[in-house]
Amino acid sequence: MNDSLGTTGLILNEPLLWEKGKAGRCGFSLPKRDVDPCPLEPELVGHGPDFPDLSEVDVVRHYTRLSQWNFGVDTGMYPLGSCTMKYNPKTNERQASLPGFSGAHPLIPESLCQGILQMMAELEAYLAEITGMDAATLQPAAGAHGELTGMLLIHAWHRKRGGQRTRIIVPDTAHGTNPASVTLCGYRPVPVVSNDRGILSAEAVAAVMDEDTAGIMITNPNTLGLFEEGILEIARIVHAKGGLVYCDGANMNAVMGVVKMGKIGVDVMHLNLHKTFSTPHGGGGPGSGPVCVKKDLEPFLPVPRIVKREGRFALDHDRPDSIGRLQAFYGNVGVMLKAYSYIRAMGPEGLKKASQMAVLNANYLKEMLKTTLHLPYDRPCMHECVFTDKFQAPHHVTTLDMAKRLMDYGFHPPTVYFPLVVAGAIMMEPTETESKEDLDNYIAAFEAIAEEAKTEPGLLRHAPRKCKVRRLDETAAARKPCLAG
Ligand SMILES: *Cc1c(COP(=O)(O)O)cnc(C)c1O
Repeated sequence: MNDSLGTTGLILNEPLLWEKGKAGRCGFSLPKRDVDPCPLEPELVGHGPDFPDLSEVDVVRHYTRLSQWNFGVDTGMYPLGSCTMKYNPKTNERQASLPGFSGAHPLIPESLCQGILQMMAELEAYLAEITGMDAATLQPAAGAHGELTGMLLIHAWHRKRGGQRTRIIVPDTAHGTNPASVTLCGYRPVPVVSNDRGILSAEAVAAVMDEDTAGIMITNPNTLGLFEEGILEIARIVHAKGGLVYCDGANMNAVMGVVKMGKIGVDVMHLNLHKTFSTPHGGGGPGSGPVCVKKDLEPFLPVPRIVKREGRFALDHDRPDSIGRLQAFYGNVGVMLKAYSYIRAMGPEGLKKASQMAVLNANYLKEMLKTTLHLPYDRPCMHECVFTDKFQAPHHVTTLDMAKRLMDYGFHPPTVYFPLVVAGAIMMEPTETESKEDLDNYIAAFEAIAEEAKTEPGLLRHAPRKCKVRRLDETAAARKPCLAG
């Protein structure tokens, strides 16, 4: 490997603004006053927030330094499995910030936002086309929100047919949000164990599917990065007992233009625009988890629906079977615009190519690293691959140690200890936007770390060494956040 990409140089320390402030310091200078002062109303005095006094350069340096401590896809490779942290073209951000879009208020009348409504109607149609489904809603604000929407749709569909059910099948490879969404909707999740090939077998589903089960919630490709090959047969079993098939489509980045979920038995599914379609996941910003359905479920979609009447787009609230509103306004329009721009720029061939490259990159990592790290399911993967720390266990080096050490080599660590079905999991999703050189550097870093595990395990146990902070107490950081200065 060439010189380490890890931080070494001029990364400056920075105190809190409260520690930095000096009473009386100021960020501007005004000419001397030539009118008499006019005192504030007494009730306004002394009630302002206790902001520190700072100069302009204090503030600029503070935020610039903090921004340099950050790591994102614009900084380097971010192989966080299950998150699709790909590089997203800046042009899509640009289209989303055009003043006509970014300046529109959600309460403006339909007649003044025909462009946004048209964009949304077309995006719904594109997503339905990409997934092979019949209709879509853009309202859900996240993947998990889409799952809940899907569960509510399934619930409404059963109610309309006059027979409510109580259970939903959820495989053990499901994303953690799946059983949560099932429970939130009032159903009971029924776990099914995946087989030794890391996928769900039709027999396991047949053994639990009954007439009290409303359906199955299946992630495809699943959280092991494997395609659920039995899905056609599984869908047939579920449908034969009057259930519906929900597909968690957050991993669509692996199969765009390759698999039409509507053609393989899926009745309802969600997508994560903030993974697959040009917004990064985990950025803390707004998301969008559109839900696509087959014709039978369309009447239940949330209101308002975007319709076209006499050549004009309108919002239709008159849908008696609808599950209702999912949020106050339209959904997160900025995220939709980026997805729209991305899909239009890529076209069907471009999307397919992106998925093919994502799968190629993941398989390249898998093949190159499988002698360095233990690979529990040695078979072609989709967009991500899952290793473990089994080879390093004799040296008392864990997944966490290796992930922390990777930061010293200048890479964001992969996802660790997920999926739960694999002990000591290390889950990598390189995405289509990493070059072969970047992948090779990443592979070399892991090879070096595996060598260190043998020769200098202490180095790993105390990693990271070059980062601003060493090992944090992650539990305390989550449970007892210190937000004030
Ligand atoms: C990311 C992800 C989700 C959840 O999406 P959020 O937008 O974070 O709520 C659900 N399922 C799978 C498989 C995912 O990868």
